[in-house]
Amino acid sequence: DALPPSSPGAVRTTCPYCGVGCGVLAAPDGRIAGDPDHPANRGRLCSKGTALGETLNLPGRLLHPEVMGKRASWDAALDTVAEGFRRAQAELGRDGLALYVSGQLLTEDYYVANKLAKGFLGTANIDSNSRLCMASAVAAHRRAFGEDVVTGVYEDLETADLVVLVGSNLAWCHPVLFQRIMAARALRPTMRLVIIDPRRTPSAESADLHLPIRPGSDVALYNALLAHLDERGLADNAYVEAHTEGLDAALAAARADAADAAGRTGLDPADLATFLRWFAETPRVVTLWSQGINQSETGTDGANAIINAHLLTGRIGRPGMGPLSITGQPNAMGGREVGALANMLAGHLDWSVAGEADLVRQHWNAPNLATGPGLKAVDLFRALGRGRIGALWIMATNPAVSLPEAGLVHEALSRAPFLVVSEVMRETDTAAYAHVRLPALGWAEKKGTVTNSERMISRQRSLLPPPGEARADWWIISQVAARLGWGSDFAWTGPAAIFREHAALTGRGNNGTRAFDISGLAGLTDEDYDALAPTRWPVPASASAKSRLFADGAFPMPSGRAKFVAVSHRQRPEGAGLLTLLTGRLRDQWHTMTRTGGVPRLMAHAPEPVLTVHPEDAGGLTDGSLVRVTGHAGAEAVLRLRYDPGQRRGSVFAPMHWTAQAAPRARINPAVPAATDPVSAQPALKSARVKLSAYDAA
Ligand code: SF4
Repeated sequence: DALPPSSPGAVRTTCPYCGVGCGVLAAPDGRIAGDPDHPANRGRLCSKGTALGETLNLPGRLLHPEVMGKRASWDAALDTVAEGFRRAQAELGRDGLALYVSGQLLTEDYYVANKLAKGFLGTANIDSNSRLCMASAVAAHRRAFGEDVVTGVYEDLETADLVVLVGSNLAWCHPVLFQRIMAARALRPTMRLVIIDPRRTPSAESADLHLPIRPGSDVALYNALLAHLDERGLADNAYVEAHTEGLDAALAAARADAADAAGRTGLDPADLATFLRWFAETPRVVTLWSQGINQSETGTDGANAIINAHLLTGRIGRPGMGPLSITGQPNAMGGREVGALANMLAGHLDWSVAGEADLVRQHWNAPNLATGPGLKAVDLFRALGRGRIGALWIMATNPAVSLPEAGLVHEALSRAPFLVVSEVMRETDTAAYAHVRLPALGWAEKKGTVTNSERMISRQRSLLPPPGEARADWWIISQVAARLGWGSDFAWTGPAAIFREHAALTGRGNNGTRAFDISGLAGLTDEDYDALAPTRWPVPASASAKSRLFADGAFPMPSGRAKFVAVSHRQRPEGAGLLTLLTGRLRDQWHTMTRTGGVPRLMAHAPEPVLTVHPEDAGGLTDGSLVRVTGHAGAEAVLRLRYDPGQRRGSVFAPMHWTAQAAPRARINPAVPAATDPVSAQPALKSARVKLSAYDAA
């Protein structure tokens, strides 16, 4: 049904799924519509967004705190959590404590979790499942710009003459952005779309050019582009001279790769030449990348190779052009802002910059501030398995399904001395191991803010009262902090007060040149906060916001210049008879299906997990049969095989959504090794080597 904003009980809120961050009009009776006034989607929604109303009353909610599987009062549960952390600290010290959080948390929840861990528990062992999604983009931004900044905005995708999607099946994973590109292209047919992806994805079906690149060779492709632009004399020399550094080393590395670019990338030389020519001859070009770049052992290098091409041509900080990384999760960006990754501090501040840790310490009144980076996701769960973590608190995420080497993650969780899980659903693969389960608010009940991939801060507003005894994550964390003796430092009256404290910490580091600056929002009243319209940062307190970041060529580096990063292609080892396993998402599912899996019409799109394979790689296995996928350390999954001529030879694709509870044998992540990018520590979820064999159910 149409849902005008004036409908009784309707609120303006934000979709809780992907990083597009669409505005939603939602009513308590389950009616949902796209918010026509939200700049991210202008009224559009995708299949997942339109089905949000069908997730409001899903069975299986966790409605009461539980200790050792038995219902408990909040007081008893919170006392148990505080005591568990106190005991672990006594046994193992502050490095024996850890939090694993999520891009599903609102910014205020994220901020409070980070403050408790880094500021008061004194450990930087707090990482986010966003490590799986965009850590390589973060690392690349910091290397190139001196700060984790997404330079472009969504409108650029509509005003570009060439849009290049690298490692992104945008049509399924960020559908509203893809709709915006398609709508712009319908009005301006000269606009071109290039897809760089080993698979002929639904996005590639609409492309002017699809480059089915060999997995893991993106650096070689973009190095070939850098060398090509230089050879053709297309560098913007004035821009490079005035605003960048490091070009010579980057060019030398690029030329070495360019010599055999077609061989390294496995691309048809004519298609490769077309791409190089189109990029070279089209000033208004946006390169959008996502997990296909980030989830790789060379993810950070791949992202820097993309940024290098834009820096060389000065195509950055201007309308219709620039590098644009897209996050997977609804509030991955908010997590980056509050420093809820193990290697970051709040407010984009950095331990490695003199004086910045002191800014955080003073702002929080936190003498025990962690002194340096902590354990990142994969290492955190390895440490748990080795007995080095005595207390772990997991919030709003399901690492038993989503992390690589998931079998080992299960084992580690089963051996955890003390495990707390804050969750919306009672039964998840992860919550099954919890000593304490804490009922958290769900999407329709929470209040706070999220930031989408184009730095737009939007409100999430509640449309339903809390069910059972569920509570806001920030409240739960604050209650534990109070029991540990820090009540006065965690005594907020609500999310508006937390947001003000968060905003007041921003725009202060690195001699005042941090691009992330929302200090202009630090004085919002509760009423202002309630009414806050979507607002893109920066929002400085003392000056008018720049209309476009980096338009002036000034970057938050000590030198003020952006940096070309010299990167080189690294050949992946190939194993005879093995195929590269690419894992990813389906159109109508979200992560581990705790919500979308409960909506029949979304399940109907893909009722079971399917492995796609090029027919000539099937080795006699028949289309539609069940096959065994054997990967890391002999771990296996069983999936139905589908022939797909659009799958690049030598690779197969499997969805990552299915859980032990939904389909125990179909979980794919146990077969994926926990290899990571050496710079970002992001797991390389698209590089497992597997073999296929017939599955005999008998
Ligand atoms: Fe939600 Fe993303 Fe779909 Fe928008 S595109 S409705 S944010 S899932």
